[in-house]
Amino acid sequence: MKQLIQGGRLLTAGRLDGAYADILIDGDTIAAVLPPGENVGADVKRVDATGRLLMPGLINAHTHGTTALGRAMADRWSLELLLNAYPWTGGGRTAEIKYLSTRIGALEMLSKGCTACYDLAAEIPAPSVEGLDAVARAYHDVGLRAVIAPMMADTTFYRAIPGLIASMPAELREKAEAMRATPYDVSLAICRTVIENWAWDRDKLRPALAPTIPHHCTDDFIVACRDLAKAHGIGVQMHVAESKVQALVGPRKYDTTLVGHLHKLGMIGPNFTAAHAIWIDDDDMGRLADAGASVAHNPGSNMKLGSGIGAARKMLDRGINLGVGTDGCLSSDNQNMFEAMRMAAFVSRVHGPDPQQWLTAAEAFEAATKGSAGALGMGNLIGQLAPGFKADIVFLDLTSINYIPLNEPLLHVVFVEDGTGIDRVMVGGQVLVEGGKVNGVDMSRLADETTAVMEQLAKVNVGAKDFVKAFEPVVLDYCVGLAREPYHVHRFCGHG
Ligand SMILES: [Zn+2]
Repeated sequence: MKQLIQGGRLLTAGRLDGAYADILIDGDTIAAVLPPGENVGADVKRVDATGRLLMPGLINAHTHGTTALGRAMADRWSLELLLNAYPWTGGGRTAEIKYLSTRIGALEMLSKGCTACYDLAAEIPAPSVEGLDAVARAYHDVGLRAVIAPMMADTTFYRAIPGLIASMPAELREKAEAMRATPYDVSLAICRTVIENWAWDRDKLRPALAPTIPHHCTDDFIVACRDLAKAHGIGVQMHVAESKVQALVGPRKYDTTLVGHLHKLGMIGPNFTAAHAIWIDDDDMGRLADAGASVAHNPGSNMKLGSGIGAARKMLDRGINLGVGTDGCLSSDNQNMFEAMRMAAFVSRVHGPDPQQWLTAAEAFEAATKGSAGALGMGNLIGQLAPGFKADIVFLDLTSINYIPLNEPLLHVVFVEDGTGIDRVMVGGQVLVEGGKVNGVDMSRLADETTAVMEQLAKVNVGAKDFVKAFEPVVLDYCVGLAREPYHVHRFCGHG
């Protein structure tokens, strides 16, 4: 079926002036971008976009759908306190609960104008065929495109930070030492099964791998992921130098930076995305850029967790492909890509007083569309409104309060829009959101179902909550102390 979206204005990488244009769609793909009113024949369905600004669906370069039930559970948590609490906040996830959680995150993304994401599905203690199938089903049912990477570790959080266990009182030390992570070959065997049996349409859903954090994974694990990804032509995403504590582990454990270590292991290539990458130095940026790798910049999460401010300007100037993400609900806590894009523009401005060093609205917009598409390994498929790209289109209502008066369309989208101006969202030429609401979803039923699950989880996780709460003071003390130690990269602002 052919459709012509007519009467709208267009905003996409390389065409950022919001000029009028019509879009011809053939099936799920954009066939042509045409001057307004061009004749395309009679057998084409007309879609009226009068008073609408058309932009590519935003793309979330980093999230965790299985943590969507954890939104608004924590206030002043650093990354290390978040990781410590995971057995409680992420515990008791059956496949059906993973489905529900991922569906909630996907519905929020879609309703707020995001049409694809890179999901590091928390599969701790170990990945499972049923869990990953549930995550894929959730995206399939909502209609979002997703790269789905099981997030895995073969080292426990307490062991991963040098000196942490030794700093604990005897009773806690015993408990921490008794914890065991799943051996990597067990996790990898499950990943191999999942990848080899992947039956989903790869234009919609793709598998990838996420050995979560360098020092939470043995070198053997990282190398095995590298080889499995290479054998199947899939992506790898890892959290890299997200906090100063993590960055400080690099020289202590590997005698180099975390990126330097991954580079030595041969992990960094065009299929590699580093999430956060806050505490990376100039050499690290060079290694990532020269290898054609991407960074998923998550400014909201970075500020919520007090992780520091990623050097987006420097990364762009060095030639790294920059995408934008929200991160999961344990740290962001929403899944609003308009907000993430705006924060990427804003937070670049706290580095210093020279406006020429700040991210422009155009750079933030292109990072959240074209850049994120590259991070997903879908740079030739999504992220732009141009011939050959999928028809993933957000229709913004220019009569919404966000566009009155209408000045520069691009600046409205980056600095004003928060998702409330969305009229329709199309994925692959199909309208999934109308009047700002996702079609066919009974929200009160979803709320009731989720409330029941949360009551069940509170009971299941009561022991895990007590367990992690006992560790909280010692993790806090040790990690805050460690973060005071000198490092040659500076990413905190407002000293003193
Ligand atoms: Zn993350």
